[in-house]
Amino acid sequence: MRNLQPLCLVLHLSVQLSNKEPSPVQSLFDRRSFLRLASAGAAFLAQKTARAQATSPVRPPTRVGRTATRNRKNFVGIQVRAYAWQDEGIEQVLDNIQEKGDVNTVWAYTFGYGEQRLRKGINLPDHGVALAPDDNEIVAGAFYDYDPKYFQNTIIQNFRASGYGKFNVIEQVAPKVKARGMDFFAWDLNNTSPTLNRTAPNYAEVAEVDLWGRRSTNPCFNHPDYRAFLSGKVESLLAGYASEVDGVSWGCERMGPLDNMIGGSSDATCFCNFCQAKAREQGISVARAQAGYKELSQLFHASSRETAPTDGYFVTFWRVLLKYPEILSWESLWTDSFQGMQAELYGLGKAIAPQKPFGFHIMQSMTFSPFYRAEEDYTKRKNCADFLKLATYNNAGGPRMTAYLNNLSHTIFHDATPQDFLALYYKMMNYQEAPFDQLASTGLSPDYVAKETKRALTDVAGEVQIYPGIDINVPVLGAGPSPTDKRTGPEDVRLAVRAAFGAGADGVVLSREYVEMWQANLTAAGDTLREIFAQSAKKS
Ligand SMILES: [Zn+2]
Repeated sequence: MRNLQPLCLVLHLSVQLSNKEPSPVQSLFDRRSFLRLASAGAAFLAQKTARAQATSPVRPPTRVGRTATRNRKNFVGIQVRAYAWQDEGIEQVLDNIQEKGDVNTVWAYTFGYGEQRLRKGINLPDHGVALAPDDNEIVAGAFYDYDPKYFQNTIIQNFRASGYGKFNVIEQVAPKVKARGMDFFAWDLNNTSPTLNRTAPNYAEVAEVDLWGRRSTNPCFNHPDYRAFLSGKVESLLAGYASEVDGVSWGCERMGPLDNMIGGSSDATCFCNFCQAKAREQGISVARAQAGYKELSQLFHASSRETAPTDGYFVTFWRVLLKYPEILSWESLWTDSFQGMQAELYGLGKAIAPQKPFGFHIMQSMTFSPFYRAEEDYTKRKNCADFLKLATYNNAGGPRMTAYLNNLSHTIFHDATPQDFLALYYKMMNYQEAPFDQLASTGLSPDYVAKETKRALTDVAGEVQIYPGIDINVPVLGAGPSPTDKRTGPEDVRLAVRAAFGAGADGVVLSREYVEMWQANLTAAGDTLREIFAQSAKKS
């Protein structure tokens, strides 16, 4: 991120130019050429800056004004899957979310990495259509028609979702949203997708390469074709649907190679030619990074076989880091590329539509992984976002945190059990939550929502809108769900909404998905929001 702050600035300057009377620059170029020029110039400057920063001290970033952006007061968003509109009807969904949930901003999936209806008796609530027992299809891709001109610079050109016929979520839903005085945000969620590798030609070509030279299912943020694909999507939404799309919410739930290994998951990435070239440019030895990650992989793999090193797991882990500082360099290389891409997309969004909010979803690891938390620094993030949606899902947070702490006790803290290190962990993270054996069934408290909201608000210092995600039947990931796991009830929703606004939130996003929410819980959210907004209107 730090390498790309000047990029935001460059694009903002371009915005300022483009908003005034036709300038000599604009008389020479049409708008599209102008944007390309701005992007290319910014990318060039970013490279130049990265090189310059390798040799010169880091200077504090220049503040970028966001006066053009029009943020809605008392923002209440909700994420809506593409199939919900068809299964329940567009007007029926809008009635539900507006009347029951008091929602004023629809986050409609315009791109899905892979979605499937819910199963009756497992996670289907009291509305919607159940997945047919013999239906295993996963639908992925764009839920709107896009002009191919936005994807001329990438090999990924054919990614329209099949599965819902010619359904175009922007054309069909946005006008009805606006007719009700609500806003339509494009929700562009870019999690990893084995489905797109099969359904979208060339998608597999931009995949990351792991330690052993194998292609993964994760696209690489340094691959020029993937970068152009992501930029093309933003252009196709904001320039292609200028009168329908009111804002963009961008998300991607991924972490760097070290975080992944500490969390107990896959091999380290990315060692593709583009990442290797970028590493060499920054003076990082590729061979030593690979050797370091291989040694780390062996250590964590050994931990599952219970062959304890003489000096203990943590000491051995630290010894590997000392021997191969390239492990950390590669982690930073990945994270800088990931966040740099987001900064670039933000700049692009602002260049096309400076008044439209462009913000980011921040995954829940930001709250309970100390390692991921260190990398997702709000004080830096604030330079390239209009809003941040925090995945502060407190009910699912109980089982999820339990699973995370169990993972830590299989990798970096394998010398101890979660019960052993829980008190220290809570101190480090500023939490006061349940004892380990009750955490999954109790969930996290509303205090967790309040603390995470406050932390973000303090760090962004009023420059970015903070929207905590309110947990309404968010499912448990990983090892769960177990029958005793915490489930959301109306009172949980009321307390979480109050905790968010009590901490000073600028709005909330009812989470995760409309299709997962029981109606009594959605109603509890809406009723509480109306109370809070009525009270604040009285005060002002
Ligand atoms: Zn790569």
